[in-house]
Amino acid sequence: MKQIAIYGKGGIGKSTTSSNLSAALADRNLAVMQIGCDPKRDSTRMLMQGRLIPTVLDLIREKGEANLGSSDVIFEGYRGIRCVEAGGPEPGVGCAGRGIIATFQLLERLDAFKGDVILYDVLGDVVCGGFAMPMRKGYAQEIYLVTSGELMALYAANNICKAIARISQNSRQICRLGGIICNARNTPGEKELVEAFAKSVGSRVLTYIPRDEIVQHAELNTMTVIEYEPESDQAGRYRELAEAVMTNTSFIIPSFLEMEELEQMGRSFLTPRSGVRER
Ligand code: ATP
Ligand code: MG
Repeated sequence: MKQIAIYGKGGIGKSTTSSNLSAALADRNLAVMQIGCDPKRDSTRMLMQGRLIPTVLDLIREKGEANLGSSDVIFEGYRGIRCVEAGGPEPGVGCAGRGIIATFQLLERLDAFKGDVILYDVLGDVVCGGFAMPMRKGYAQEIYLVTSGELMALYAANNICKAIARISQNSRQICRLGGIICNARNTPGEKELVEAFAKSVGSRVLTYIPRDEIVQHAELNTMTVIEYEPESDQAGRYRELAEAVMTNTSFIIPSFLEMEELEQMGRSFLTPRSGVRER
């Protein structure tokens, strides 16, 4: 069983990428499970025809942990993908990672960690222990980072590299970076910049996913691109990602950059503006 976690800055495209990857994997007749590890609970929506499924944390509050069975918390979506949303507290109240911890405990009790591929879609804030849980407890051995060429997206990716390096040092759990997914924002020199970043942390860009309006069309029809327009180039990119993930043999403990190095790298891919003093 392959367990992979998709990390990245808020809003960078983790859920879109995760859902399309899950759909592409399910199209290959693999048994897939996607676990949304984000209080917003919208990770699996495009796999569930637009439905926001109840979260594990809400169900625990309503019915009590001991009364929950697999059919209460696991919902079948596109091509039988088993969808789970961890959920979290109301914004501003309590630890946002609590939903993940409770979900993992429950799925463990239900013996639900099963299938060919389990995919964790995790908000990039690994500062909180809960969000590091998929990698820390040895659930996800393979980590993939979603980033664009925007400085703050690279900054978040770099922080996750730092977390992987730290976790690998301090525990016996296997947790490795499998690669970087460039989800384009069309920033200047984006492809080259993300490639340079990947190289500098010791990794590589697995797939380049263009920014394409088809994602919004699919979203407004509450589908993944894979389901909405399987013959499109964009769907082809997600299938390419699925292939790259399934055949990947390169897993590393990444290094990471200092903020100044990251800024310097970003600057080197910009055309200097004439008459403006650069730092
Ligand atoms: P959050 O951290 O809030 O969970 P996220 O990282 O999961 O966010 P998504 O919800 O997947 O991000 O994406 C944010 C928005 O960006 C989506 O509404 C989607 O329409 C858009 N988007 C993502 N990837 C692409 C793309 N390749 N082309 C066009 N739009 C995209
Ligand atoms: Mg998301």
